[in-house]
Amino acid sequence: MTSTFHIWTIGCQMNVADSRRLTESLEKYGLTVANGPHDADVVVLYSCVVRQQAEDRVHGQLHALQTMKATRPHLKVVVAGCVSDIPDWHRRYPFVDLIAEPGQDLTVRDRLIDLLDLSERYRFDPEQAIRLPGISEGVTIHQGCNRSCTYCIVPSTRGGERSRPPAVIVDEVQRLVERGTREVVLLSQIVERYGRDLRPRVLLSELLHQLDAVDGLERIRFLTSYPGDFGRDLVDAIAELPKVCEDVNLPIQSGDDDVLRRMKRGYVVDHYRQLIDKLRGRVTDLGLSTDIIVGFPGETAAEFESTLRMLDEFRFDVVHVAMYSPRPGTVAATTMRDDVPREEKRRRLHEVESLQKRVATAINARYLGRTVDVLVEGVAKGRWYGRTRTNKLVHFASDLPLGGTLVNVEITSTEPWFLEGTVPLALTVPKSSSGRGTRR
Ligand code: SAM
Repeated sequence: MTSTFHIWTIGCQMNVADSRRLTESLEKYGLTVANGPHDADVVVLYSCVVRQQAEDRVHGQLHALQTMKATRPHLKVVVAGCVSDIPDWHRRYPFVDLIAEPGQDLTVRDRLIDLLDLSERYRFDPEQAIRLPGISEGVTIHQGCNRSCTYCIVPSTRGGERSRPPAVIVDEVQRLVERGTREVVLLSQIVERYGRDLRPRVLLSELLHQLDAVDGLERIRFLTSYPGDFGRDLVDAIAELPKVCEDVNLPIQSGDDDVLRRMKRGYVVDHYRQLIDKLRGRVTDLGLSTDIIVGFPGETAAEFESTLRMLDEFRFDVVHVAMYSPRPGTVAATTMRDDVPREEKRRRLHEVESLQKRVATAINARYLGRTVDVLVEGVAKGRWYGRTRTNKLVHFASDLPLGGTLVNVEITSTEPWFLEGTVPLALTVPKSSSGRGTRR
Protein backbone atom coordinates (compact mmCIF):
# COMPACT_ATOMS: atom_id res chain seq x y z
CA MET A 1 0.00 0.00 0.00
CA THR A 2 1.36 3.41 -0.93
CA SER A 3 2.03 5.30 2.27
CA THR A 4 5.14 7.46 1.92
CA PHE A 5 6.29 9.99 -0.67
CA HIS A 6 9.35 11.98 -1.54
CA ILE A 7 9.31 15.16 -3.65
CA TRP A 8 12.52 16.33 -5.33
CA THR A 9 12.39 19.88 -6.67
CA ILE A 10 14.76 21.98 -8.70
CA GLY A 11 14.26 25.13 -10.73
CA CYS A 12 12.04 28.11 -10.23
CA GLN A 13 9.99 29.15 -7.24
CA MET A 14 6.88 28.09 -9.09
CA ASN A 15 8.07 24.47 -8.84
CA VAL A 16 8.71 25.06 -5.13
CA ALA A 17 5.19 26.45 -4.66
CA ASP A 18 3.64 23.60 -6.67
CA SER A 19 5.52 20.97 -4.66
CA ARG A 20 4.45 22.60 -1.40
CA ARG A 21 0.81 22.39 -2.50
CA LEU A 22 1.25 18.78 -3.57
CA THR A 23 2.83 17.90 -0.20
CA GLU A 24 -0.17 19.38 1.61
CA SER A 25 -2.57 17.44 -0.60
CA LEU A 26 -0.80 14.11 -0.21
CA GLU A 27 -0.64 14.57 3.55
CA LYS A 28 -4.37 15.23 3.58
CA TYR A 29 -4.79 11.86 1.89
CA GLY A 30 -2.82 10.20 4.68
CA LEU A 31 0.58 9.83 3.03
CA THR A 32 3.67 10.83 4.99
CA VAL A 33 6.96 12.33 3.92
CA ALA A 34 9.66 9.65 3.48
CA ASN A 35 13.23 10.02 4.71
CA GLY A 36 14.38 10.04 1.11
CA PRO A 37 13.71 8.40 -2.25
CA HIS A 38 15.18 5.11 -1.00
CA ASP A 39 12.26 4.49 1.39
CA ALA A 40 9.45 6.22 -0.48
CA ASP A 41 6.59 4.45 -2.23
CA VAL A 42 6.19 7.33 -4.65
CA VAL A 43 8.78 9.83 -5.83
CA VAL A 44 7.76 13.05 -7.62
CA LEU A 45 10.43 14.98 -9.52
CA TYR A 46 9.60 18.65 -10.03
CA SER A 47 11.96 19.19 -12.91
CA CYS A 48 13.42 22.16 -14.74
CA VAL A 49 14.98 22.35 -18.18
CA VAL A 50 15.61 26.09 -18.34
CA ARG A 51 19.36 25.51 -18.37
CA GLN A 52 21.36 22.49 -19.56
CA GLN A 53 22.81 21.99 -16.07
CA ALA A 54 19.30 21.70 -14.60
CA GLU A 55 18.23 19.27 -17.31
CA ASP A 56 21.35 17.17 -16.63
CA ARG A 57 20.40 16.93 -12.96
CA VAL A 58 16.91 15.71 -13.91
CA HIS A 59 18.45 12.97 -16.07
CA GLY A 60 20.81 12.09 -13.18
CA GLN A 61 17.89 11.70 -10.77
CA LEU A 62 15.96 9.61 -13.28
CA HIS A 63 18.88 7.23 -13.77
CA ALA A 64 19.16 6.82 -9.98
CA LEU A 65 15.43 6.10 -9.75
CA GLN A 66 15.63 3.59 -12.59
CA THR A 67 18.20 1.63 -10.56
CA MET A 68 16.00 1.84 -7.43
CA LYS A 69 12.95 0.68 -9.34
CA ALA A 70 14.82 -2.37 -10.63
CA THR A 71 14.99 -3.69 -7.04
CA ARG A 72 11.71 -2.15 -5.80
CA PRO A 73 9.22 -2.55 -8.66
CA HIS A 74 6.33 -1.16 -6.59
CA LEU A 75 8.02 2.29 -6.51
CA LYS A 76 5.97 4.86 -8.46
CA VAL A 77 7.86 7.60 -10.30
CA VAL A 78 6.16 10.82 -11.35
CA VAL A 79 7.77 13.67 -13.28
CA ALA A 80 6.23 17.15 -13.13
CA GLY A 81 7.40 20.70 -13.92
CA CYS A 82 9.01 21.72 -17.23
CA VAL A 83 9.56 18.40 -18.95
CA SER A 84 7.57 18.04 -22.11
CA ASP A 85 10.30 19.39 -24.36
CA ILE A 86 12.79 16.66 -23.58
CA PRO A 87 12.71 14.60 -26.75
CA ASP A 88 11.92 10.90 -26.60
CA TRP A 89 10.74 10.92 -23.01
CA HIS A 90 8.76 7.75 -23.10
CA ARG A 91 11.39 5.76 -24.96
CA ARG A 92 14.23 6.95 -22.70
CA TYR A 93 12.40 6.49 -19.41
CA PRO A 94 9.75 3.81 -19.90
CA PHE A 95 9.70 3.10 -16.15
CA VAL A 96 8.21 6.55 -15.36
CA ASP A 97 4.60 6.02 -14.26
CA LEU A 98 3.27 9.51 -14.87
CA ILE A 99 4.54 12.56 -16.69
CA ALA A 100 2.51 15.54 -15.55
CA GLU A 101 3.09 18.04 -18.30
CA PRO A 102 3.24 21.79 -17.71
CA GLY A 103 0.00 23.63 -18.14
CA GLN A 104 -1.57 20.73 -16.30
CA ASP A 105 0.25 21.55 -13.09
CA LEU A 106 -2.94 22.20 -11.23
CA THR A 107 -4.05 18.66 -11.94
CA VAL A 108 -0.90 16.82 -10.86
CA ARG A 109 -2.61 16.12 -7.56
CA ASP A 110 -5.71 14.65 -9.18
CA ARG A 111 -3.70 12.53 -11.57
CA LEU A 112 -1.57 11.22 -8.71
CA ILE A 113 -4.63 10.38 -6.66
CA ASP A 114 -5.89 8.33 -9.61
CA LEU A 115 -2.52 6.68 -10.15
CA LEU A 116 -2.20 5.70 -6.50
CA ASP A 117 -5.86 4.87 -6.14
CA LEU A 118 -5.93 7.07 -3.05
CA SER A 119 -9.56 8.01 -3.14
CA GLU A 120 -10.36 4.35 -2.53
CA ARG A 121 -7.88 3.76 0.25
CA TYR A 122 -7.96 6.93 2.30
CA ARG A 123 -10.77 8.93 3.70
CA PHE A 124 -10.29 12.61 2.99
CA ASP A 125 -9.87 14.40 6.32
CA PRO A 126 -8.43 17.88 5.89
CA GLU A 127 -8.79 18.64 9.62
CA GLN A 128 -6.31 15.92 10.52
CA ALA A 129 -3.49 16.78 8.21
CA ILE A 130 -2.75 20.47 7.91
CA ARG A 131 0.98 20.96 7.65
CA LEU A 132 2.47 23.97 9.42
CA PRO A 133 3.38 26.04 6.38
CA GLY A 134 6.49 28.11 5.94
CA ILE A 135 6.72 31.68 7.11
CA SER A 136 7.32 32.93 3.59
CA GLU A 137 5.39 31.09 0.89
CA GLY A 138 5.34 31.26 -2.90
CA VAL A 139 1.92 31.64 -4.52
CA THR A 140 1.62 31.07 -8.27
CA ILE A 141 -0.60 33.79 -9.74
CA HIS A 142 0.07 33.41 -13.45
CA GLN A 143 1.41 30.64 -15.66
CA GLY A 144 3.11 30.68 -19.03
CA CYS A 145 4.61 33.44 -21.15
CA ASN A 146 3.49 34.96 -24.47
CA ARG A 147 6.82 36.60 -25.23
CA SER A 148 9.32 35.04 -27.60
CA CYS A 149 12.79 35.70 -26.20
CA THR A 150 14.96 33.75 -28.64
CA TYR A 151 16.84 31.74 -25.99
CA CYS A 152 13.95 30.81 -23.72
CA ILE A 153 12.17 27.47 -23.57
CA VAL A 154 9.51 28.63 -21.09
CA PRO A 155 6.80 29.58 -23.64
CA SER A 156 6.93 26.06 -25.07
CA THR A 157 7.11 24.28 -21.72
CA ARG A 158 4.67 26.41 -19.75
CA GLY A 159 2.44 27.46 -22.64
CA GLY A 160 0.48 30.66 -23.13
CA GLU A 161 -0.33 33.08 -20.34
CA ARG A 162 -3.07 32.16 -17.86
CA SER A 163 -3.91 34.14 -14.73
CA ARG A 164 -5.65 32.85 -11.63
CA PRO A 165 -8.61 35.05 -10.65
CA PRO A 166 -7.87 37.55 -7.86
CA ALA A 167 -10.53 36.09 -5.56
CA VAL A 168 -8.90 32.64 -5.74
CA ILE A 169 -5.48 34.11 -4.95
CA VAL A 170 -6.78 36.23 -2.07
CA ASP A 171 -8.49 33.15 -0.69
CA GLU A 172 -5.27 31.07 -0.91
CA VAL A 173 -3.30 33.85 0.81
CA GLN A 174 -5.92 34.18 3.57
CA ARG A 175 -5.71 30.44 4.21
CA LEU A 176 -1.91 30.55 4.31
CA VAL A 177 -2.03 33.44 6.79
CA GLU A 178 -4.45 31.50 8.99
CA ARG A 179 -1.84 28.74 9.15
CA GLY A 180 1.01 31.07 10.10
CA THR A 181 2.39 32.50 6.87
CA ARG A 182 3.59 36.10 7.25
CA GLU A 183 4.95 36.79 3.77
CA VAL A 184 3.82 35.74 0.30
CA VAL A 185 5.88 35.81 -2.87
CA LEU A 186 3.63 36.10 -5.93
CA LEU A 187 5.08 33.98 -8.71
CA SER A 188 4.98 34.18 -12.47
CA GLN A 189 7.48 34.01 -15.32
CA ILE A 190 6.42 37.51 -16.31
CA VAL A 191 4.51 38.90 -13.40
CA GLU A 192 3.42 42.28 -14.80
CA ARG A 193 1.37 40.43 -17.41
CA TYR A 194 -0.85 39.17 -14.60
CA GLY A 195 -4.58 39.65 -15.24
CA ARG A 196 -4.40 40.76 -18.85
CA ASP A 197 -6.13 37.56 -19.99
CA LEU A 198 -8.91 37.88 -17.40
CA ARG A 199 -12.27 39.47 -18.18
CA PRO A 200 -12.65 42.05 -16.80
CA ARG A 201 -8.93 42.71 -17.01
CA VAL A 202 -7.08 43.09 -13.73
CA LEU A 203 -3.72 44.78 -13.16
CA LEU A 204 -1.03 43.36 -10.91
CA SER A 205 -1.17 46.62 -8.95
CA GLU A 206 -4.90 46.01 -8.34
CA LEU A 207 -4.17 42.50 -7.04
CA LEU A 208 -1.50 44.02 -4.77
CA HIS A 209 -4.09 46.44 -3.36
CA GLN A 210 -6.41 43.53 -2.56
CA LEU A 211 -3.65 41.51 -0.90
CA ASP A 212 -2.41 44.51 1.04
CA ALA A 213 -5.78 44.44 2.83
CA VAL A 214 -5.39 40.82 4.04
CA ASP A 215 -5.31 40.92 7.84
CA GLY A 216 -2.31 39.26 9.45
CA LEU A 217 -0.22 39.28 6.29
CA GLU A 218 2.98 41.28 6.82
CA ARG A 219 4.82 41.31 3.55
CA ILE A 220 4.21 40.83 -0.17
CA ARG A 221 6.87 40.30 -2.83
CA PHE A 222 6.44 39.41 -6.50
CA LEU A 223 8.70 37.98 -9.20
CA THR A 224 9.95 37.77 -11.89
CA SER A 225 9.42 41.01 -13.70
CA TYR A 226 9.82 41.92 -17.34
CA PRO A 227 11.13 45.45 -17.93
CA GLY A 228 8.90 46.14 -20.94
CA ASP A 229 5.67 45.86 -18.94
CA PHE A 230 6.63 47.50 -15.63
CA GLY A 231 4.12 50.37 -15.45
CA ARG A 232 3.78 53.51 -13.34
CA ASP A 233 0.93 51.91 -11.36
CA LEU A 234 3.30 49.20 -10.17
CA VAL A 235 5.97 51.69 -9.17
CA ASP A 236 3.28 53.52 -7.18
CA ALA A 237 2.09 50.28 -5.55
CA ILE A 238 5.61 49.53 -4.29
CA ALA A 239 6.01 53.09 -3.06
CA GLU A 240 2.61 53.36 -1.38
CA LEU A 241 1.31 49.99 -0.21
CA PRO A 242 2.62 49.23 3.29
CA LYS A 243 2.95 45.49 2.84
CA VAL A 244 4.54 45.49 -0.60
CA CYS A 245 8.29 45.16 -0.09
CA GLU A 246 10.83 47.44 -1.70
CA ASP A 247 12.27 44.50 -3.59
CA VAL A 248 12.24 44.10 -7.39
CA ASN A 249 13.72 41.33 -9.53
CA LEU A 250 14.04 42.85 -13.01
CA PRO A 251 16.01 40.68 -15.47
CA ILE A 252 17.97 42.76 -18.01
CA GLN A 253 19.93 39.80 -19.53
CA SER A 254 22.57 41.95 -21.29
CA GLY A 255 23.95 45.48 -21.22
CA ASP A 256 24.31 45.65 -24.99
CA ASP A 257 21.52 46.77 -27.32
CA ASP A 258 22.60 44.48 -30.18
CA VAL A 259 22.59 41.42 -27.92
CA LEU A 260 19.19 42.47 -26.52
CA ARG A 261 17.89 42.70 -30.09
CA ARG A 262 19.22 39.22 -30.93
CA MET A 263 17.57 37.98 -27.74
CA LYS A 264 14.34 39.69 -28.90
CA ARG A 265 13.91 41.27 -25.49
CA GLY A 266 11.87 44.20 -26.79
CA TYR A 267 13.72 47.02 -24.99
CA VAL A 268 17.08 48.79 -25.08
CA VAL A 269 19.42 49.52 -22.19
CA ASP A 270 18.32 53.12 -21.99
CA HIS A 271 14.65 52.13 -21.42
CA TYR A 272 15.81 49.95 -18.57
CA ARG A 273 17.91 52.83 -17.20
CA GLN A 274 14.86 55.15 -17.26
CA LEU A 275 12.73 52.53 -15.50
CA ILE A 276 15.15 51.99 -12.63
CA ASP A 277 15.70 55.74 -12.31
CA LYS A 278 11.92 56.08 -11.91
CA LEU A 279 11.81 53.24 -9.38
CA ARG A 280 14.74 54.51 -7.34
CA GLY A 281 13.40 58.06 -7.50
CA ARG A 282 10.05 56.99 -6.11
CA VAL A 283 11.11 54.19 -3.71
CA THR A 284 13.90 55.05 -1.34
CA ASP A 285 15.92 52.05 -0.22
CA LEU A 286 14.98 49.73 -3.07
CA GLY A 287 16.44 46.20 -3.28
CA LEU A 288 17.05 45.51 -6.98
CA SER A 289 18.20 42.23 -8.50
CA THR A 290 18.63 41.14 -12.10
CA ASP A 291 19.43 38.18 -14.36
CA ILE A 292 22.28 38.13 -16.89
CA ILE A 293 23.11 35.63 -19.61
CA VAL A 294 26.75 35.58 -20.71
CA GLY A 295 28.03 34.03 -23.95
CA PHE A 296 24.84 34.50 -25.96
CA PRO A 297 25.43 33.54 -29.64
CA GLY A 298 27.68 36.10 -31.29
CA GLU A 299 28.40 37.99 -28.04
CA THR A 300 31.68 39.79 -28.81
CA ALA A 301 34.23 40.90 -26.25
CA ALA A 302 33.03 44.49 -26.77
CA GLU A 303 29.37 43.51 -26.22
CA PHE A 304 30.33 41.71 -23.03
CA GLU A 305 32.24 44.82 -21.91
CA SER A 306 28.97 46.77 -22.32
CA THR A 307 27.35 44.37 -19.83
CA LEU A 308 30.16 44.95 -17.32
CA ARG A 309 29.86 48.73 -17.72
CA MET A 310 26.09 48.53 -17.28
CA LEU A 311 26.45 46.45 -14.08
CA ASP A 312 28.96 48.95 -12.73
CA GLU A 313 26.57 51.82 -13.49
CA PHE A 314 23.27 50.26 -12.36
CA ARG A 315 24.66 48.67 -9.17
CA PHE A 316 22.29 45.81 -8.44
CA ASP A 317 22.01 44.25 -5.01
CA VAL A 318 22.04 40.78 -6.53
CA VAL A 319 22.92 39.50 -10.01
CA HIS A 320 21.89 36.00 -11.09
CA VAL A 321 24.30 35.14 -13.88
CA ALA A 322 24.08 32.14 -16.19
CA MET A 323 26.11 30.91 -19.14
CA TYR A 324 23.97 30.71 -22.27
CA SER A 325 22.83 27.16 -23.00
CA PRO A 326 20.94 26.33 -26.20
CA ARG A 327 17.47 25.03 -25.43
CA PRO A 328 15.88 22.69 -27.97
CA GLY A 329 13.34 24.27 -30.26
CA THR A 330 14.18 27.88 -29.38
CA VAL A 331 14.96 30.39 -32.12
CA ALA A 332 18.50 30.86 -30.80
CA ALA A 333 19.18 27.12 -30.75
CA THR A 334 17.83 26.55 -34.26
CA THR A 335 19.07 29.64 -36.10
CA MET A 336 22.16 30.91 -34.22
CA ARG A 337 25.56 29.30 -33.73
CA ASP A 338 26.52 28.71 -30.08
CA ASP A 339 29.89 30.21 -30.91
CA VAL A 340 31.24 31.49 -27.58
CA PRO A 341 33.50 28.67 -26.32
CA ARG A 342 32.56 27.17 -22.98
CA GLU A 343 35.81 28.30 -21.36
CA GLU A 344 35.15 31.88 -22.49
CA LYS A 345 31.57 31.72 -21.16
CA ARG A 346 32.94 30.55 -17.84
CA ARG A 347 35.51 33.36 -17.81
CA ARG A 348 32.77 35.95 -18.48
CA LEU A 349 30.61 34.44 -15.75
CA HIS A 350 33.44 34.74 -13.25
CA GLU A 351 34.10 38.30 -14.34
CA VAL A 352 30.46 39.24 -13.68
CA GLU A 353 30.60 37.48 -10.31
CA SER A 354 33.73 39.28 -9.17
CA LEU A 355 32.42 42.68 -10.31
CA GLN A 356 29.15 41.98 -8.50
CA LYS A 357 31.01 40.96 -5.36
CA ARG A 358 32.63 44.41 -5.29
CA VAL A 359 29.32 46.18 -5.92
CA ALA A 360 27.42 44.14 -3.29
CA THR A 361 30.18 44.65 -0.75
CA ALA A 362 29.84 48.41 -1.14
CA ILE A 363 26.02 48.39 -1.09
CA ASN A 364 25.86 46.19 2.01
CA ALA A 365 28.49 48.23 3.85
CA ARG A 366 25.97 51.06 3.96
CA TYR A 367 23.80 48.92 6.26
CA LEU A 368 26.42 48.96 9.03
CA GLY A 369 24.99 50.47 12.21
CA ARG A 370 21.44 50.61 10.85
CA THR A 371 18.47 48.91 12.48
CA VAL A 372 16.46 46.79 10.06
CA ASP A 373 13.14 44.92 10.34
CA VAL A 374 13.83 41.24 9.80
CA LEU A 375 11.16 38.61 9.25
CA VAL A 376 12.68 35.57 10.96
CA GLU A 377 12.45 32.55 8.67
CA GLY A 378 14.59 29.90 10.37
CA VAL A 379 17.77 28.79 12.03
CA ALA A 380 21.13 28.20 10.35
CA LYS A 381 24.26 27.07 12.19
CA GLY A 382 22.71 27.85 15.56
CA ARG A 383 21.66 31.39 14.65
CA TRP A 384 18.40 32.86 13.47
CA TYR A 385 18.16 34.13 9.93
CA GLY A 386 15.62 36.21 8.05
CA ARG A 387 15.24 38.92 5.44
CA THR A 388 14.83 42.64 5.34
CA ARG A 389 12.12 44.21 3.21
CA THR A 390 14.81 44.83 0.59
CA ASN A 391 15.56 41.07 0.62
CA LYS A 392 18.89 41.22 2.44
CA LEU A 393 19.69 38.04 4.32
CA VAL A 394 20.44 38.76 8.00
CA HIS A 395 21.91 36.39 10.62
CA PHE A 396 21.75 37.01 14.36
CA ALA A 397 21.89 35.10 17.64
CA SER A 398 19.14 35.00 20.27
CA ASP A 399 17.76 32.42 22.70
CA LEU A 400 14.21 33.71 22.24
CA PRO A 401 11.64 31.81 20.14
CA LEU A 402 11.61 34.24 17.24
CA GLY A 403 10.57 32.07 14.25
CA GLY A 404 7.94 33.88 12.17
CA THR A 405 8.24 37.18 14.04
CA LEU A 406 9.43 40.58 12.89
CA VAL A 407 12.50 41.65 14.79
CA ASN A 408 14.54 44.86 14.88
CA VAL A 409 18.15 43.86 14.21
CA GLU A 410 21.06 46.23 14.51
CA ILE A 411 23.61 45.45 11.82
CA THR A 412 27.08 44.90 13.23
CA SER A 413 28.94 43.49 10.24
CA THR A 414 28.34 43.22 6.52
CA GLU A 415 29.40 40.76 3.84
CA PRO A 416 28.66 40.84 0.11
CA TRP A 417 25.99 38.13 0.37
CA PHE A 418 24.58 38.69 3.88
CA LEU A 419 24.50 40.91 6.96
CA GLU A 420 25.06 40.05 10.62
CA GLY A 421 23.55 41.80 13.60
CA THR A 422 22.34 41.75 17.16
CA VAL A 423 18.95 42.16 18.75
CA PRO A 424 18.65 44.63 21.65
CA LEU A 425 18.59 42.96 25.08
CA ALA A 426 15.14 44.38 25.78
CA LEU A 427 13.79 42.95 22.58
CA THR A 428 10.91 44.74 20.94
CA VAL A 429 9.13 42.89 18.21
CA PRO A 430 7.31 45.27 15.87
CA LYS A 431 3.66 44.31 15.40
CA SER A 432 3.62 45.16 11.72
CA SER A 433 6.12 46.09 9.08
CA SER A 434 3.94 48.92 7.86
CA GLY A 435 6.51 51.35 9.21
CA ARG A 436 8.09 50.65 5.81
CA GLY A 437 11.60 49.48 5.89
CA THR A 438 14.76 50.32 7.65
CA ARG A 439 15.62 53.08 10.02
CA ARG A 440 18.91 54.84 10.23
N1 SAM B 1 10.83 37.35 -16.34
C1 SAM B 1 12.11 36.85 -16.77
C2 SAM B 1 12.60 37.65 -17.93
O1 SAM B 1 12.14 38.77 -18.16
O2 SAM B 1 13.50 37.17 -18.63
C3 SAM B 1 12.03 35.40 -17.04
C4 SAM B 1 12.72 34.52 -16.07
S1 SAM B 1 13.49 33.13 -16.86
C5 SAM B 1 12.32 31.96 -16.93
C6 SAM B 1 14.71 32.72 -15.73
C7 SAM B 1 16.12 33.07 -16.14
O3 SAM B 1 16.79 31.95 -16.71
C8 SAM B 1 16.21 34.14 -17.20
O4 SAM B 1 16.12 35.41 -16.64
C9 SAM B 1 17.55 33.89 -17.87
O5 SAM B 1 18.57 34.69 -17.30
C10 SAM B 1 17.80 32.40 -17.59
N2 SAM B 1 17.72 31.65 -18.84
C11 SAM B 1 16.61 31.37 -19.55
N3 SAM B 1 16.94 30.68 -20.66
C12 SAM B 1 18.28 30.53 -20.66
C13 SAM B 1 19.20 29.92 -21.54
N4 SAM B 1 18.82 29.35 -22.69
N5 SAM B 1 20.50 29.95 -21.20
C14 SAM B 1 20.91 30.52 -20.06
N6 SAM B 1 20.08 31.12 -19.19
C15 SAM B 1 18.78 31.12 -19.49
